[in-house]
Amino acid sequence: MEETIFNASGGDTDLSGLQVQDLKAKLLDLKMKNDLLLKENNQLKRENNQLKRPPLFVAVVLDTMENSEVYLRQQGNNQEYISQTIDELRDALKPGMKVAVNNTLSIVRIVGNTFDTRVRVMELDESPEVDFSQIGGLREEIEEVREAVEYPLTKPEIFKRIGVEPPKGILLHGPPGTGKTLIAKAVAHQANAVFIRMSGSELVHKFIGEGAQMVRELFTLARERAPSIVFIDEIDAIGSMRTQDGTSGSAEVQRTLMQLLAEMDGFNNRGDVRIMAATNRVDMLDPALLRPGRFDRILEIPLPDEDSRHEILKIHSAKMTLDAVDFRELVRLTENSTGAELQAICREAGMIAVRRDADSVEMNDFLNAVKKVKNKSCAEDRMFL
Ligand code: ATP
Repeated sequence: MEETIFNASGGDTDLSGLQVQDLKAKLLDLKMKNDLLLKENNQLKRENNQLKRPPLFVAVVLDTMENSEVYLRQQGNNQEYISQTIDELRDALKPGMKVAVNNTLSIVRIVGNTFDTRVRVMELDESPEVDFSQIGGLREEIEEVREAVEYPLTKPEIFKRIGVEPPKGILLHGPPGTGKTLIAKAVAHQANAVFIRMSGSELVHKFIGEGAQMVRELFTLARERAPSIVFIDEIDAIGSMRTQDGTSGSAEVQRTLMQLLAEMDGFNNRGDVRIMAATNRVDMLDPALLRPGRFDRILEIPLPDEDSRHEILKIHSAKMTLDAVDFRELVRLTENSTGAELQAICREAGMIAVRRDADSVEMNDFLNAVKKVKNKSCAEDRMFL
């Protein structure tokens, strides 16, 4: 069948059915393209509007008050003020939350909870699964830590009765991998305390400009979750002797250290927050940290001796099926190894036996593991030379 349509010059043109279908398809195609362009145009308009808006400031909610008023502290300049918000946001606001405020300082939206930042830098363990039976050797050291950290939490009355103040902070120092963190976790477990760990080097490298604020939050969290044990690992990163170079990096570290000292000074020795720290470089620490009332007990955690190495190897191989393993010989071969290396040797021996598809771990697997772990440690040492 033929259709007649009018062309622009007023004449009529005869089109075949096929041609009409083709034109209709083209028209549909053009309509779709038009829709897509309209959408893109709207999106660009929205983005353009967004770019024209002034930036929002970030503040922390300190308290919520009546009449939709909120008590805020602005991040960066620490200025405090009372602001307004819309009802639907008001109910969701809680102290500690981060909010975005516009240039009239009204709350526009919730950014997140400061707890999010805290968990980025702090490790919080309600009840660490480590007990003293999992630590090889270090008996005297463990006893000293218990006296300074655990007993003030579990037996405060003894300190009161005798009239003695427990040490405020205890500093563990020694080579990496010798069990400093392990002791702190075991003490927290024994005292039923929450274990909160913060790494000094992470704080300095990942949270530039936020160090002092993080230290404040660490202690706030410790108070909120008391009884608790605060463990600051690699404290030398924030507590090294003051340098005179005056670079902004060191000024920032100074502020963080000052905040830490201020927090420690504000603590009660008999309170239910205990403070521990660890370092591999005690010689580099700022003397201000070691003054009485701060880290006034310093304890060395040494490399394990023969008996301790034996115990550590036994602890880390306790769950393995062993076949004629000569632990005395392994102890002889692992002089100067740390607890972490001994643990790695046990794990590696187990993996070698798995690869062999064996039923048990044999002495030869351990000997190969010792070689492998020792070679790895030597290579790492060379990297730091
Ligand atoms: P760093 O200075 O690197 O933080 P650290 O001294 O805190 O090291 P840990 O993290 O406590 O060392 O130890 C690492 C691992 O080594 C532990 O998880 C544990 O498995 C093992 N380990 C270290 N020392 C001992 C020990 N005395 N007994 C049993 N295991 C140990």
